[in-house]
Amino acid sequence: MGLLNNLINKSRLKSPWVVHYDCGSCNGCDIEVLACLTPVYDLERFGIVNVGNPKHADVLLVTGTVNKRNKAVLKNIYDQMPEPKAVVAIGTCGMSGGMFRECYNVVGGVDKVIPVDVYVPGCPAKPEAIIDGVVKALELVKAKLEGKAPQSDAAPAEPAEGKPEEPKPEIDAA
Ligand code: SF4
Repeated sequence: MGLLNNLINKSRLKSPWVVHYDCGSCNGCDIEVLACLTPVYDLERFGIVNVGNPKHADVLLVTGTVNKRNKAVLKNIYDQMPEPKAVVAIGTCGMSGGMFRECYNVVGGVDKVIPVDVYVPGCPAKPEAIIDGVVKALELVKAKLEGKAPQSDAAPAEPAEGKPEEPKPEIDAA
């Protein structure tokens, strides 16, 4: 069993699978994530595969602003992913709500709903920065596999270190 677990863990790190969820916004960051998968940036050359089923994924990539309609979907996708897992919030919208943050139906950034491990700034975020964010997320998954980092908590987390400080407006939960 130990040998099998070692093999599974090694396979997960050598060929990690990502699942992408776009909460909405202008879809600029969504396009940049897709660009990472095209032959120009060719994320698959690192063994990273984009999958449609969160139950198969190691890393969740989230773009766009979280709103009152999609927050339940986002949480549902996150909850279905097996441990160890990592979350990457992409773009200003994913980090804080961006230019849509004061809209009537906006909840805010991804970390309002699920714990975020890596923030990728930009409007839109560049493909190179997104790939760098995925690599950082994989380092976290590796640390979790080796027992050097705690497993993810289902509760919303404190913003990760390094996130730029931004004034946050009061959000009406009603
Ligand atoms: S961060 Fe900018 S480019 Fe990305 S989804 Fe938001 S508005 Fe669009």
